[in-house]
Amino acid sequence: MRPTEDTYRHKGLRKKLVQGIQAKGITDERVLDAILEVPRHFFLDSAFDEVAYEDRAFPIGEGQTISQPYTVAYQSQLLEIKRFEKVLEIGTGSAYQAVVLAEMGVQVYTIERQKNLFEANKKFELLKKYPTIKFFYGDGYEGLPTYAPFDKVIITAAAPDIPQKLIDQLKIGGMMVIPVGAGDVQQMKRITKLDNGALKEEVFDRFSFVPMLGGKES
Ligand code: SAH
Repeated sequence: MRPTEDTYRHKGLRKKLVQGIQAKGITDERVLDAILEVPRHFFLDSAFDEVAYEDRAFPIGEGQTISQPYTVAYQSQLLEIKRFEKVLEIGTGSAYQAVVLAEMGVQVYTIERQKNLFEANKKFELLKKYPTIKFFYGDGYEGLPTYAPFDKVIITAAAPDIPQKLIDQLKIGGMMVIPVGAGDVQQMKRITKLDNGALKEEVFDRFSFVPMLGGKES
């Protein structure tokens, strides 16, 4: 069962969490405000209530995880989000990252390949507060050509390479943030599509994500 109450204790724990990720180097105020706002314990079973605001990943079923808040903040900061942008997310999972982005004022298009996780989000009451998030069941490698181009693309699973179809769905001047690597550890990269269509690649810290897999799973 999911918790439904956001108490003063939870709010206090969120404040501490935000101070923690600030101490780890996150400076974007809009990212920090979003983390402060979003009740992360709602995304987990109530069994996790005591630990929901620890800066760690947790299991959400189907062998998948809710990302560590620091990682969510790190990717969100690299995206240099501006209000009203269109953002494509690959790997909805718990929908925590999607809600953090929606809280920052963008339109989120998010794709999940696991049917059970996709269906669970349909019943997740909190998400009704976020009509700016559109949920899709499908293979993230294909992106969403119908809704392209996007200002930003965020991949929340480890990709062995940079998926060309997703680069194609990026606007000129748009950015993709993606953990790249086939092993246990990936390198966070930011790809910017320049005015002439060429790609600029920047390399950031190392992270450990679950793998980005091809195809759909029912
Ligand atoms: N953004 C999530 C992180 C979830 S972990 C959160 O905030 O909690 C990564 C997710 O990516 C998993 O749910 C996994 O099923 C999904 N995934 C992996 N490969 C995918 C693909 N090709 N297309 C869509 N989703 C994918």
